[in-house]
Amino acid sequence: MGTGNYVVDHIPPATPCNRRPAHPMLQPTTITVHNTGNPTSTARNERDWLTNPSNNRTASYHIVIDEHQAIECIPLSENSWHAGDGSMPASGNRTSISIEICESGNYAQTLDHAAELIAKLLAERGWGIDRLRRHFDWSGKICPRLMYDKGKWTGWLQFKQQIASKLTQLASGGETMTKEEKALLDSLKTTVTHLADRVVYLETKQRMNIPAWAQSAVDAAVGAGLIHKPEEGSEDFYRLLTVIHRKGLI
Ligand SMILES: [Zn+2]
Repeated sequence: MGTGNYVVDHIPPATPCNRRPAHPMLQPTTITVHNTGNPTSTARNERDWLTNPSNNRTASYHIVIDEHQAIECIPLSENSWHAGDGSMPASGNRTSISIEICESGNYAQTLDHAAELIAKLLAERGWGIDRLRRHFDWSGKICPRLMYDKGKWTGWLQFKQQIASKLTQLASGGETMTKEEKALLDSLKTTVTHLADRVVYLETKQRMNIPAWAQSAVDAAVGAGLIHKPEEGSEDFYRLLTVIHRKGLI
């Protein structure tokens, strides 16, 4: 998912039910993961719900993400009401960036996007996956519910691993290589090795006493891979090499 799919569409400060309280959250300490709890809603639907007049709940979230896009609904420097654990200074509501993961559409794709986004948020802050929280960690609510697996939280463990591997990719400077890129790199490595051998040979040749009349024969023999230490030849050896070379055999 490119950065073009990250949309900033903040709800107004005057949004009803105190959904954007604008308490400063200048130094959040964790990122909290949720599922929307709605099998059909998209990120756009969830963002619009926050400003829907029929919504009477005091609940909100920083970012909602689906298979196509992420929408930032509240600035990350302000709090949102997502953790269900009150408003104390150390509460999830006051210290944690909230990410709502949509359940609609291509869920695997959505998870991949979410892992990528969360890895980016962690990397920007110099954080590791130990900064990740479930809604469950704050209030005991079974959320993100699609990762619950009857209390084993298999999906949560997998998701954290997915984020960890994205973090590794980011740390190593971007995407992992494709097959083609790997093949190209291998072929470049081989070329560089050959060039380095050639340089060593040329440098060695400068230091050795190969007679001028034997130079072209020695070059040809080295080029054909017949000899590897041309400087160690005797006068007779160079003569023999030259004869063979003049006969066109090397
Ligand atoms: Zn939740």
